[in-house]
Amino acid sequence: MQKFRIGNGYDIHRLIEGRDLIIGGIKITHEKGLLGHSDADVLVHAIIDALLGALAMDDIGTIFPDTDLKYKNADSMLLLKKVYSKVKNSGYRINNIDSNIIAQNPKMMPYIPKMRMAIANVLEIKDSDISIKAKTKENLDAVGENLAIEANAVVLLVQD
Ligand SMILES: [Zn+2]
Repeated sequence: MQKFRIGNGYDIHRLIEGRDLIIGGIKITHEKGLLGHSDADVLVHAIIDALLGALAMDDIGTIFPDTDLKYKNADSMLLLKKVYSKVKNSGYRINNIDSNIIAQNPKMMPYIPKMRMAIANVLEIKDSDISIKAKTKENLDAVGENLAIEANAVVLLVQD
């Protein structure tokens, strides 16, 4: 077994009317939300895929298939909890996470401290061990045109 394992994750969801906007486990006030089988928490999905990638396991779509009714409107924080138990069962803990939310609108900044606390709480790390940065796409492409929100994450696992 290696002492350290790194993983990276990426996700994108379409922004539509009639859905709640939930990112990083926090409900954000906005006229649109992200479309998906689960609650479509784009940041948590990127972190889940980074954790699975670090373990060289299947990706989020394989573990929680969107054909499974069990995961319809699922709380992604519960999925994160399940994946974190795989990390622990593999003999690792999370050293730190760095992530980005890429959204043209709304402003993520006011929500980031709450997101860090919520995710740190599930992953049994300090909020200083998780970085969440917010970027726009300078009005370019689908994200820049407010059609979608993207996220990416890098995690470092260390042998427990
Ligand atoms: Zn997703």
